[in-house]
Amino acid sequence: MNALRRLSACAAAFVFLGAFAHASDDHGDPVAATPYFPGKTLTQSVQAGFTPDSALAVLKAGNARFVSGKTLRRHHKSAIGKTALGQYPYASVLGCIDSRAAPELVFDQGIGDLFTARVAGNVVNEDILGSLEYASKAAGSRLVVVLGHTGCGAVKGACDGAQMGNLTMLLDKIKPSVNAASTPGEHNSKNHAFVDEVTELNVKDVIKNIREKSAILKELEDQGKIKIVGALYDTSNGRVLWY
Ligand SMILES: [Zn+2]
Repeated sequence: MNALRRLSACAAAFVFLGAFAHASDDHGDPVAATPYFPGKTLTQSVQAGFTPDSALAVLKAGNARFVSGKTLRRHHKSAIGKTALGQYPYASVLGCIDSRAAPELVFDQGIGDLFTARVAGNVVNEDILGSLEYASKAAGSRLVVVLGHTGCGAVKGACDGAQMGNLTMLLDKIKPSVNAASTPGEHNSKNHAFVDEVTELNVKDVIKNIREKSAILKELEDQGKIKIVGALYDTSNGRVLWY
């Protein structure tokens, strides 16, 4: 990292975070917060300085680096050593299994930064909800991102009423969004505008489901301890749009 980028990273850290706030987390005693620096492996004290808004800002900055092609140089071997005895991620991402939409890559994050849950169509079930509850309630994550993406095969399959083994049940979870979409024209995967609308509706429906089916996440959000936000990864340019 050159001097300019280092200075920029330092400034960003202090802009993003309440550097000396205290957070009790759910790890035990209150922890004094220390500043965050992009690319540095998270510790408990750095995690304690995160707020839902600063977590979102760090993800946005990471995607901007990804889009610009100026991702941080990471030392995974060093990060393995630093996280060997514990992890302190600041955010959780529920995304699709799509090979083009890996959260750690599109947000330029490293080992120990994010909890990620991935399932076709970025839908929720009890296991996914339980995972997100662990991440937010027990492990200190400040943000839940539901990350859809353009050209999603699961969404297209739901638009076409596809049926195949266990996938049929999964696609049923996207059907309410298919039925709610109002884009003119054919309501199938050949209508790209329709697919785009269903994709957005599905992200919003998943967020609604999280709030309705997880009392723990709903309470954390109501208390201001976390935020739950929707986003869309554009496979044509690498950008993440936020709903
Ligand atoms: Zn997908």
